Amino acid sequence: MTERTFSILKPDATRRNITGKINAVIEEAGLRIVAQRRVHLTEAQAKKFYEVHAERPFYGELVAQMTAEPVVVQVLEAEGAVAKYREVMGATNPDNAAEGTIRKLFALSIGENSVHGSDSLENAGIEIAQFFTDADIVG
Ligand code: ADP
Ligand code: MG
Repeated sequence: MTERTFSILKPDATRRNITGKINAVIEEAGLRIVAQRRVHLTEAQAKKFYEVHAERPFYGELVAQMTAEPVVVQVLEAEGAVAKYREVMGATNPDNAAEGTIRKLFALSIGENSVHGSDSLENAGIEIAQFFTDADIVG
């Protein structure tokens, strides 16, 4: 089934000017970028986006990192896009990420790990709606 998932190229990626390299990996895996915008997240936006992690010890650091530099928010489309993009991203901790994955190739640390990807189809819909309207998604 054709699905859409939500992707963020994080501040460590925009800072190092490697968003194109990361998107090359995404596109080569067969995911199509159907919406895209560069945005500097506000603290309120980052806090809301990562609300599920509010009680975790790294929450403050995560919000600080996500608001430090601009990010690229995008919608990816493919057959089974949610699982496919999680596979292409690799494990949260780059030390555990498989060869060839984005996090193995580019992540600096477990916190500065270059990319976000939705963890379920339901969350993908919720996350996409935080940044894009239907009219923004153009294929
Ligand atoms: P994922 O991004 O792989 O879905 P999580 O949803 O568990 O991972 O965590 C969200 C983000 O929080 C991670 O991508 C990472 O930037 C940060 N993070 C997760 N665990 C840690 C940790 N132990 N220390 C610092 N930052 C973390
Ligand atoms: Mg997650």
